[in-house]
Amino acid sequence: MRCSICEERLKKTEAYFGDKGTFYEGKLLCETCYYEDEPCATVLYKRDDQPYVISHARDETEGDFSVSWHSTDPWRGYYETKSEKYSLANTAELLAYHESEQMLKDFDEKIRELFDEHGIDYARIFARSSNVFFQNYDLFVRKEQVLLGSLLVARAKAEVDYNNPKWYKNIVFDEDALNKIVELFPERQIKTDQDATRLIEELGDNALTELQNRMKCKKNDGV
Ligand SMILES: [Zn+2]
Repeated sequence: MRCSICEERLKKTEAYFGDKGTFYEGKLLCETCYYEDEPCATVLYKRDDQPYVISHARDETEGDFSVSWHSTDPWRGYYETKSEKYSLANTAELLAYHESEQMLKDFDEKIRELFDEHGIDYARIFARSSNVFFQNYDLFVRKEQVLLGSLLVARAKAEVDYNNPKWYKNIVFDEDALNKIVELFPERQIKTDQDATRLIEELGDNALTELQNRMKCKKNDGV
């Protein structure tokens, strides 16, 4: 008998098995690999401070939630969360050191107050991505409470100015790069990082050539 992860030999009495719904479901594991596999997501229920971890081998939520890897390209991606009991009421991107951090903290505080006030059963999930500075913050509410839950999410968002485009700046491009794109594509009236990302996506394979052409023109204008 060998551990499915580290291939260490195991005695029958030392065997662990991956939890139901996880990547290693039913697979033989050693104690270390079972417990120390890096968490994919951490679940927090209502005001309970106890974090419940979901890894490739363990599901401490006992089936309430499951995660799967969502790849955005061969090297990048994030963990997507799912549930049979709960519905997704909101998802936010938490970016470390980003200016939206405080706003999202305020949103988190506000929405929990509103949920408590209205007796909503909810869970917050923080899921990892391939980028150490980025994680998803998924807010789930009990399926049967999803309508009221969503209304309260909208209310909390209005109070913290959640939809203001200023929070979504400088996620892909930093200030200088963004200003440069704004300058090179005046007809696009780019305001946010998302506008710039959309433009680059639209240009696709031509993005680099187009950028270089415009930079050349700019230089010639200057002379
Ligand atoms: Zn092992």
